[in-house]
Amino acid sequence: MEVLIVNDLWVKYYTMSGVVEAVSGVSFRLREKEMLAIVGESGSGKSTLGFSILNMVPKPGKIVNGQILLEGTDILKLHPHEIRKIRGSKISMIFQDPFTTLDPLRKIVDQFGEFLVEHGVEKSKVNTIVREYLEAVGLPERIMYSYPHQLSGGQKQRVSIAMAIALNPRVVVADEPTTALDVVVQKQIMDLIDAIKEKYGTSIILITHDLALALERANSVMVMYGGYIMEYADKTELYDNMKHPYTKALFEALPRVMCKTLPKSLPGNPPDLRRPPPGCIFHPRCEFATEKCRIEKPRLREVSKNHLVACHYAGEIL
Ligand code: ATP
Ligand code: SF4
Repeated sequence: MEVLIVNDLWVKYYTMSGVVEAVSGVSFRLREKEMLAIVGESGSGKSTLGFSILNMVPKPGKIVNGQILLEGTDILKLHPHEIRKIRGSKISMIFQDPFTTLDPLRKIVDQFGEFLVEHGVEKSKVNTIVREYLEAVGLPERIMYSYPHQLSGGQKQRVSIAMAIALNPRVVVADEPTTALDVVVQKQIMDLIDAIKEKYGTSIILITHDLALALERANSVMVMYGGYIMEYADKTELYDNMKHPYTKALFEALPRVMCKTLPKSLPGNPPDLRRPPPGCIFHPRCEFATEKCRIEKPRLREVSKNHLVACHYAGEIL
């Protein structure tokens, strides 16, 4: 069953130096218990898309078009107080830096408790719930009475995950949840997110710049560049039949263990989204670009079942 449907979403930032076209015409569907990874380089619009899903794009950003249907309700049409109720309870977010969620000056139990009470939990039940969810993310009870600065990065991220799941949301958006952590802790946190998905039936949107992590963990992968979807498919289909030159370039740039060839870095820089190039947005960096690519924007089209690619030559060049 689909829990979230995003239709033709457009998001722009109205800055002093121009209008940034951060998300352009993005559509996707998220099933129950699915982990969808949104992958791309810095500036490709991943975080903006993540914030949009909770209708909390920071100023000067604005959602200019689209529908975000959470279990059938368009959250873009809700009143601000209704959205505040839904955030945390039906849809929540985990950030790269847990300090974004945690107040350094207050004990975990106080801030976690306040969050629960704000969402309608009775005060008498708060301590039990905090204890239960800290245990669910593998933290001992004593953490309740600690301040964030007394915890390691991994422990802080576990606390934010506990808060993100405590009201049993249908969807959790995890924005680079392991980037700030060391490799061993990264694996533990990703294992925890996997376990939560299974135990609570949560759907996860994993935002990451790391295609390897996406291919390892997600059920489906959406590759973004310059605010557009470049390629979108189930993980196995994407891995076996990569069809977009940008996906291929991301893949070839991955470090490889036990491999004699060096990773190939993608030349050039992501586009300035205040002045995106005409035609295919990837054309200035694409080794296959033709005159047509410089003029005509490729449509995102289905090249095989549930495999979408935005390239004029999908299926011909790779
Ligand atoms: P990163 O991994 O670096 O966070 P990203 O893929 O998540 O990158 P976004 O942060 O969504 O991409 O940025 C998309 C575009 O929107 C970029 O061009 C960025 O400069 C611009 N942008 C993001 N936030 C703002 C803001 N608050 N004001 C103006 N422009 C912004
Ligand atoms: Fe490259 Fe052209 Fe395909 Fe764009 S449309 S990815 S420029 S070949």
